[in-house]
Amino acid sequence: MKKIYITTPIYYSSGKPHLGHAYTTILADVIAKYKKAIGYDVFFTTGMDEHGQKIFDVAKKIKKDVEQMLDDNAKIFQELWKKLDISYDFFVRTTKQKHKKIVQKIFSYLYKKKYIYEGIWTSYYCPNCEENYTKTQAIKKNGKLFCKLGHELVFKNEPSFFLKTSKFQQWITNYFQKHQNFIYPSFRAKELINNFLEEGLKDLSISRKTLHWGIPIKENKEHVIYVWFDALFNYLTNLDFATKKCQNFTKYWKDKKCEIVHLMSKEISRFHCIYWPIMLKMLNLRLPNKVIIHGWIINNNEKMSKSKGNVIDPWQYINNFGSDALRYFLVKESSFENDFNFTDKFFCDVYNHDLANNYGNMLTRIVGMIKKYCHDVVPSLTKTNLDHNDQKIIIKRKEILKKYKNFINNYKIKDLLNEVQNSYLLLNKYIDETKPWILFKNREFSKLFNFLNIIFNFNCDLIILLSPILTQATKRIEKILHLKLNFELLNKDHAKLKIHSCPPLFERK
Ligand SMILES: [Zn+2]
Repeated sequence: MKKIYITTPIYYSSGKPHLGHAYTTILADVIAKYKKAIGYDVFFTTGMDEHGQKIFDVAKKIKKDVEQMLDDNAKIFQELWKKLDISYDFFVRTTKQKHKKIVQKIFSYLYKKKYIYEGIWTSYYCPNCEENYTKTQAIKKNGKLFCKLGHELVFKNEPSFFLKTSKFQQWITNYFQKHQNFIYPSFRAKELINNFLEEGLKDLSISRKTLHWGIPIKENKEHVIYVWFDALFNYLTNLDFATKKCQNFTKYWKDKKCEIVHLMSKEISRFHCIYWPIMLKMLNLRLPNKVIIHGWIINNNEKMSKSKGNVIDPWQYINNFGSDALRYFLVKESSFENDFNFTDKFFCDVYNHDLANNYGNMLTRIVGMIKKYCHDVVPSLTKTNLDHNDQKIIIKRKEILKKYKNFINNYKIKDLLNEVQNSYLLLNKYIDETKPWILFKNREFSKLFNFLNIIFNFNCDLIILLSPILTQATKRIEKILHLKLNFELLNKDHAKLKIHSCPPLFERK
């Protein structure tokens, strides 16, 4: 059985989830569900990154106990995932004992191996992003230094533990060049080489002395582990790496035939594509097969940010349009190459066109015709009297059934959705040209039954192909058809199936 381990990044627990979190998590969930649908054994994880100065500061600011705040935020994220039908297999929280113990173990191991050493850390540090900049990387304005998001940087100088990442600069550069499929889309590998590797990779500072909200270092209790080092290892602790019960680690990470895929937004690609592979290399572990990086959601041409107050709340769309609509829109309009511009009008247009008019209305029409012309039972194909239009639809159906696995295996779900929408276009034309109401009036029943059989079967396949995204609508359709919809039913003939009335699935907005 084919296997895949797929992850979202873990989300920083300093606030509520916004549309960006939903975007990454839905994309990962949809990939997980499609892979499961075509027979993969899937392990899918997400969770919370709960250490770091900012978390400590936020809790203080809102006068909450830190742990209480973390519990509350984890619950808010999990409620959103439940509402969006996100079916993760494990939800990690980095303040939990299991995670902390494993990270300490890894730290001690790398320290013994001399990949970690003590030194003095000097840096231009962004307290907001918790990222360090060298003087050359920082953005200079009016004699001051800023991070790439525009926060002012502070100069810092303190004792610290370092990870010998500089030793691996050439190795990781070569790795990118030899494995063109490692980073998707591939142009991001070139960006990383230009921005971070060409000028030389410095050793990474991985501890803080001035901060207390983190995992303590056993070798020197005055230090806690820097949040990135702690967070990235969730991908191993999720699988119980370095514990007695490490079946999942053996099953998903150690088995080279298991595909490992990390999905994320572009601003954290540097840590995932450069430092994370180096950490794995130090531990003598295999690397993930793929790091998939998507662009940002832009709100009416502006980047979303808390300070601008233009952060989009996913609940607003779930409450007005349903979770299926948000899942569908984010997958259909997603872009790995570019940022994508989110507007209410765009959302509403896609909803009305793809879901209300095509997906929902097509089923209502077909069910209506079968009720009216065939007493609620899907008619059989007579195989004689098939005309040019019938043949065209049969061929299109075969085509899409030949292609869908390829789209799924290559993470091109968006292309699959475009194929499905093209098929709806064809089916609408098929109805207009066949004019079943005339066939009924003229008592041309064999032609009418052929048409209804062909269109019902093809439409069923389209519903199944969308089922990993439209989870709620699929459940409702299962009740209408009295049929459990799954990918094994693709390409089936549903003649003689008894169907029930079909209420509108997506009301026009
Ligand atoms: Zn910053």
